[in-house]
Amino acid sequence: MAKFTPAQGLEQSLARMVAPAVHRIGQKVEVEAKRLAPPTKRWVTMGDDRVRPTHVAAQGQVVPGNLRFTINSMDWDRKHRGVGASTYMLEPRDRTSRAIANIKNCRCTTHKDPDGIARHINTGQPVVAGKKVTVTVSVQAPQVVEAEVGTVYPGNMVADGTHFMSRAAAIVAARR
Ligand SMILES: [Zn+2]
Repeated sequence: MAKFTPAQGLEQSLARMVAPAVHRIGQKVEVEAKRLAPPTKRWVTMGDDRVRPTHVAAQGQVVPGNLRFTINSMDWDRKHRGVGASTYMLEPRDRTSRAIANIKNCRCTTHKDPDGIARHINTGQPVVAGKKVTVTVSVQAPQVVEAEVGTVYPGNMVADGTHFMSRAAAIVAARR
């Protein structure tokens, strides 16, 4: 019976050899993730003295496209519409937020940034540990976990996840 004994350090040098290929796979996942990432949206007021205080406070708030803005509630909505301290709006004048006072005569708009999340997606350098090669594709941005997997707001308002990272990985894996 022949017994193969790898030369000392062979597995480690093999790992170093395949590291660039693993890195390229990571970069392909990054490309797909950037393509699939949702935009971000920013709350923009008219900026004049007629903007209600709850929307002045929301000026500049940025959230991933599948999520809701968190807006301070107005007293009337708290008394009559059963909203809590915050009202959750997909966009200005959003009726699904259940607010009435807080959407009436609102002139606010949103500004969309298609790369708001995509620009934060990066592929790390390969890390060789023993016979294992690891490449991490990561994204760090506000509420990015909720952008990926979704969330539920008070009042059982569901925001579906976009699953852009897991879909990107699945697309690249399916090509191989
Ligand atoms: Zn407004």
